[in-house]
Amino acid sequence: ASTHDTLIETRNVSKRFGGFLALKDISVRIPRGKLTSIIGPNGAGKSTYFNMLSGAHTPSGGQVIFDGQDITGLKPHDFAHIGIAKSFQITNLFPRFTALENVRIALQAHVSRYGLWRKRSALAGLEERAMDLLRTVGLQDRARHRAHELAHGQQRSLEIAVALAADPKLLLMDEPTAGMSPEETRTMMHLIRELVEARTVVLVEHKMKMVMGISDRIVVLHHGELLAEGTPDDIRSDEQVKRVYLGQ
Ligand code: ADP
Ligand code: MG
Repeated sequence: ASTHDTLIETRNVSKRFGGFLALKDISVRIPRGKLTSIIGPNGAGKSTYFNMLSGAHTPSGGQVIFDGQDITGLKPHDFAHIGIAKSFQITNLFPRFTALENVRIALQAHVSRYGLWRKRSALAGLEERAMDLLRTVGLQDRARHRAHELAHGQQRSLEIAVALAADPKLLLMDEPTAGMSPEETRTMMHLIRELVEARTVVLVEHKMKMVMGISDRIVVLHHGELLAEGTPDDIRSDEQVKRVYLGQ
């Protein structure tokens, strides 16, 4: 992929926790407008890598490049401002507010951050825009329900709508189907695939089968190292990957 096709890239990124090297020289390019899944067994370093992409942690070495710009060491809120959003790490819902209110609050925060509140039209359209986002995640029928009344899977979908309120270029999700029923999992996977039509999505998942059918690219981490990367077909036929996932 050319630099233009790459939205975010890590160059030789490593992460050290005391004497423990959790990530070792990870160089990966995440293509624009695609769904990339980071997979690997528990303890592989997936969440640590996710934290590099989201800005939650600063690398111990190497660089993070977003849209051609070196963003290594920027603060988490700077990552948010340049268009990187994450879901499922910290629950950012107001439980006693309705689904619609939760999304509207997120939209309002986004609008006022950019001083768009001066434009009446920006505020006037908030309710409709919030409904649009609820429709995007399949919650249009739950608009007037309080967040805490929603089923687990629906709360997670609402979190996605809240993340989308900032109109991110990159949406990051760490194990979005954790704790979900098989049906909720199918719904969520379908939703994630739909989101990719309009933006770049990076998913972290330890269940390999789950992401194989929907991902454009797969990055496999193992013991903090880059084990393999490629299309789902490349990964399925990779001997090292087979060995790592044997019995799963
Ligand atoms: P995964 O998400 O693939 O299960 P993690 O990225 O959470 O793996 O963890 C990778 C390794 O780094 C694990 O061995 C874990 O114990 C270690 N680790 C993660 N975060 C910390 C931390 N804050 N301090 C010390 N060790 C950590
Ligand atoms: Mg993890």
